[in-house]
Amino acid sequence: MQFDYDDQNIFAKILRGEIPNSTVFESEHALAFHDIQPQAQVHVLVIPKGPYVSLDHFARDASAEEQAGFMAAVAEVCRITGVVDGFRAIANTRTHGVQDVPHFHLHIIGGQQLGRMLP
Ligand code: 5GP
Repeated sequence: MQFDYDDQNIFAKILRGEIPNSTVFESEHALAFHDIQPQAQVHVLVIPKGPYVSLDHFARDASAEEQAGFMAAVAEVCRITGVVDGFRAIANTRTHGVQDVPHFHLHIIGGQQLGRMLP
């Protein structure tokens, strides 16, 4: 599978500081910020700093250090946002997954009771 990263996508612009964001957490390998159109009381996007299009691209090609850094950022977001009663993590992926922004991102959604989600 060929993954072609478009460095003009909106999250690439956020990473370069060309578009402002509401940062929740930042580290060497990841950035987490509030979604501009929150679907729940907590709706944070966690993105790797590397140029990965999607979850499967990140899982295949990111280094162990990048992957560990990303997961550590997820843990920090959970701690900072206080989603102690649980949350939903979603990685919409490419066309069938209805992914709008082609830079891998994990939605962390919670802070309230969510409805059951069926495929
Ligand atoms: P996707 O469908 O790709 O999984 O979701 C992309 C998400 O990015 C959407 O929830 C959308 O609201 C969010 N988003 C799009 N543009 C921006 C932006 O400029 N800033 C922020 N913070 N979120 C954005």
